[in-house]
Amino acid sequence: MTDDPVLELRDVVRDYPGRTAVDGASFALPSGGITCLLGPSGCGKSTLLRLIAGLEPVDAGEIRIRGQAVAAPGMTAAPEHRGVGLVFQDNALFPHLNVSANVGFGLAAMTADARRARVAALLDRFHIAHLADAWPHMLSGGEQQRVAIARALAREPSLLLLDEPFSGLDGHLRGAVRDALLADIRAAGTSVLIVTHDPEEAMMIADNLILMAAGRIVQTGRPEDCYHQPVSIAAARLLGDVAVIDAVVTNGIADTALGAVQADAIPDGAAKLAVRPDAIVRSPAGVAATVSATRFAGHHYIVEAFAADQHFTIQLPGKPPAIGEQVTLALRLDVRALVVRDGD
Ligand code: ADP
Ligand code: MG
Repeated sequence: MTDDPVLELRDVVRDYPGRTAVDGASFALPSGGITCLLGPSGCGKSTLLRLIAGLEPVDAGEIRIRGQAVAAPGMTAAPEHRGVGLVFQDNALFPHLNVSANVGFGLAAMTADARRARVAALLDRFHIAHLADAWPHMLSGGEQQRVAIARALAREPSLLLLDEPFSGLDGHLRGAVRDALLADIRAAGTSVLIVTHDPEEAMMIADNLILMAAGRIVQTGRPEDCYHQPVSIAAARLLGDVAVIDAVVTNGIADTALGAVQADAIPDGAAKLAVRPDAIVRSPAGVAATVSATRFAGHHYIVEAFAADQHFTIQLPGKPPAIGEQVTLALRLDVRALVVRDGD
């Protein structure tokens, strides 16, 4: 990786009639590695990719690729001049061209020999050399995807954009197929921005995350940091379940029914404390709570319990308590909690 960002967005806005799909997005994408753009369906991820690729104009703000301004109000550099490869969800290949011709499609400016060599190298890299003469309709979904990605990389873009590339894969092969494809993409050395709505997938594959909700960038950073140090309860929820507990802050200490945590920089008064569900544990010294429901969730049980007028949804490993049973609960001593002022 180099220090210069391959992509920079500054306050980018995209308005559709009656709604703002991208609402002041700013971030910088480090050069090299895989970044995941994660957010719920409809939050504006695909729109953002289209703006970066140059398929739509921006209504405000600026986009730079390798330091060059490519989009601003009234200025939209053509997609082919951006050095960006884009693969949509549906992988549309040209049906009337075979695999080699699909991959070599954007290389008309090269000599025939150079083009053949580039295509052969890409077919090799993506393990589809045996399909060189096949037609798109003869390929499986996974093979079509490899062809589409090879085609997107043919002009050696500085940035590859993939929109929900793994949503068509399912079942027990999903992880293996995804990891093999990512290894081949990483080996190509291009910076990659992958859109997904699946938090576990994003955390597993990304070097960096960009969290998006309702057209806005909520947080960016390494997966571990975003997961353990969310900037808001909304950001925390994008990466998994969150238990929110009432708290009262006094002199930098947030007191809750389950114990107290440090809350520097939070003013005195009512607050909320957000933790991952596994941060609440059974502890003999804890607070008594009555179990109201249990659900099996594979490697743990999801347990609902009431204590001191509050309701908790927690994860407990091992044999679950019975409904109506009293359990004593406390915050784990090494808890990582987010404390926010009530109403924030
Ligand atoms: P995501 O990819 O995160 O699911 P999209 O970027 O596709 O979200 O869409 C964001 C919002 O913009 C949605 O509410 C969607 O209905 C709306 N939208 C997307 N494309 C258009 C369009 N061409 N015209 C009008 N509204 C659109
Ligand atoms: Mg989308």
